[in-house]
This record gives sequence, structure tokens and C-alpha cells, in this order.
Amino acid sequence: MAHRRGHVKSSTQSLGRIEQTFYSVGSKMPGEYCELHAHSNFSFLDGASHPEELIGRAAVLGMPSLAVTDHAGLYAAVRLWKAAAQTRTTAARDAGLSPVSAIVGLELAIPADERSLRLARRGRKLNDPLRGGKASRGWPGEFHAGPMPGDHLVLLARNGTGYATLSRLASRGHLAGEKQFPVFERALVEAALDEARGHLVGLSGCRSGEVPRQLLAGDAEAALAAAGAWAGHFPDGDFAVELSQLRHWLNTSGLE
Ligand SMILES: [Zn+2]
Repeated sequence: MAHRRGHVKSSTQSLGRIEQTFYSVGSKMPGEYCELHAHSNFSFLDGASHPEELIGRAAVLGMPSLAVTDHAGLYAAVRLWKAAAQTRTTAARDAGLSPVSAIVGLELAIPADERSLRLARRGRKLNDPLRGGKASRGWPGEFHAGPMPGDHLVLLARNGTGYATLSRLASRGHLAGEKQFPVFERALVEAALDEARGHLVGLSGCRSGEVPRQLLAGDAEAALAAAGAWAGHFPDGDFAVELSQLRHWLNTSGLE
């Protein structure tokens, strides 16, 4: 290990190891804030920025690394990588930009139970008119495209093997579902994680992740169990619980 680590496990520390093993290390040492869960405009209806714009902003802010974690695909990977390379040019340095290391990630939506898995496999009809409560739709309660149904999980590639695992996962998901609606079966995801152990870093996901879902339901024990179960598929310290600002929820839940 090139440098010592404290006992507190954080995304930033995992990031430090990602950089050591695969990504070129920026001019700044790990320890500064790095965004590890960002969506480009390849996450339809969930991201508005081109990959180049995200890297450009990180370079302006002096963020040493940036992970792009689009939904169910690695569509931004090549453009992200090329944009990050541009931040390491003499021209970028002369312009006062910081070098940025790109991290390729993926956000999956994993059906929480057998019923959800069946519904997800059935898919959602394209060009659905989406009118009224009886409109034909694949998932109950969904009238329009929103967060993908299922427990969200974010995976970051630590190296080439991790990237290949993400690629295979994305392909399998799309092959398992209807067009545009991939299906990520939990058992298959877990098997892929175990096989690629040490090559991926996991994050608990947005508020649609299993851990926040249980927390939002007021079941802290189930949330802890869920975090433990996912963490078991990664080397110690390579699974992190995401923190997000949920002020509205805190204000209304009474759980503060
Ligand atoms: Zn999400």
C-alpha cells in the first residue's frame, strides 16, 4: 500500500486505491472531495450534461477524479476518458485547469423480489399512450419514465477487469429485458460481483437504493442488514454507503 489509510472507510479512500491501481494519479493527492455518482446525458431524463462538460467542470473545480455512473450502460465511457486525457495536456495546464482522472461506473436497478423481477422481465410497452389509471404499462404505478424500478446499486470499475465486468453486466441486463428496459437479476449481479471481487467498488446508490429504501421505510435494522449483505460482495472497505442531502425527508420523517 503506497500510503497509510485511516480506519474510516469512505468513498474517497476507495478512490485513492482505484487511482493507484489503474487510473493515472492527478497532481493532487486523494483526500479531496471527488464526486463518485454523477449522471451524464446518457442517463435519459436523469442527466443533462455531456461527459466533456462534467470533466470540464471537475477540472475547473480542481476535483482530482470524477466517476460517471449512468443508468444501465457505459455509453459515456469513451468520451469521458478522452475528455479526462485533455485535462492532462500542456494547454489545459496553461489554462489553469486541474488534471482529472475519469472513473467509469454504472448504476443498476435490481428488482427487489420475485414479483418485481417478473414485472421487469415483462417490460414496458414502447409508445405507451400513458393515459389514465388504466393505461397499459409494465410496472404498477408508473405513468411515465422515472427512476428505473428496483433497488439502485452503483458500481465503479477499479481496473480493466472491473470495466469488462460492467460491460458484461450491462449487456446481460439488456439481453434479459425488453428493448430499452434492462433486467438485472440480483443473483446474477451478485455472482458477477463475486467473480470480479477486488476489481469493483460498490456504492449504496441514490435514494432508490436498497439501504435508503429501508431507511425511508423506517427500518434501520433492515438497512444495516442490506448494507452488510452488499458489502460482503466486495473486499473490506470497497463498499460505501452514499450520503445525500435529504432535508425534505428529514423534516417530514420525524427520524432526525
Ligand atoms: Zn439511482
